[in-house]
Amino acid sequence: MADPLSPLSRLLAEVRSCQACPDLPQGPRPIVQAHSAARILIIGQAPGRRVHATGIPWNDPSGDRLRGWLGVDRAGFYGPSFAIIPTGLCYPGSGPRGDLPPRARCAPLWFARLRAQLPAIRLTLVIGQYAQAYHLGTPARGAVAPNVRRAADYGAFWPLPHPSGRNNQWLARHPWFQAEIVPALRARVAAILAGEPVL
Ligand code: SF4
Repeated sequence: MADPLSPLSRLLAEVRSCQACPDLPQGPRPIVQAHSAARILIIGQAPGRRVHATGIPWNDPSGDRLRGWLGVDRAGFYGPSFAIIPTGLCYPGSGPRGDLPPRARCAPLWFARLRAQLPAIRLTLVIGQYAQAYHLGTPARGAVAPNVRRAADYGAFWPLPHPSGRNNQWLARHPWFQAEIVPALRARVAAILAGEPVL
């Protein structure tokens, strides 16, 4: 159990009480998972409606698909080896084309402070266009496929497409992702979780 007086626990309490975006359509509810021993960091975009309702990150079909890509079950995913910090920590609401982008003020406010409390991270998964634009500095549009194709170039960062069902066409158009990238990703994750040395 986490020490309630540790710097990370105190920071998480501060994050979870954030009210910086009072105009969020369903109000602030920051959703983040972090443990000081975490070895794999998952940076997604922002919680969806179901995640907002339950308060559990990736607790939806996108999460099921992501766990399949990683080769981990729910117990492992929600255990201390994984930290989960979306680019925007609260549900931003939805528009005609799906969920809105993460709130722009969120990552500059919280990400670096949270990341500083995670010294054991060995792999950072950067999921979706908004997360990649912020954390990898790539264009917000049209960069996901080249980013994912060049995952090996990013070293300890691993760009991924969003596992949402809205991306089924993207996945169908890029069969190399499932055939080549997913097995390599699974092997890297398994090695890190087993404590093996990886590049
Ligand atoms: S989106 Fe981020 S900055 Fe805005 S209220 Fe939620 S935690 Fe705070």
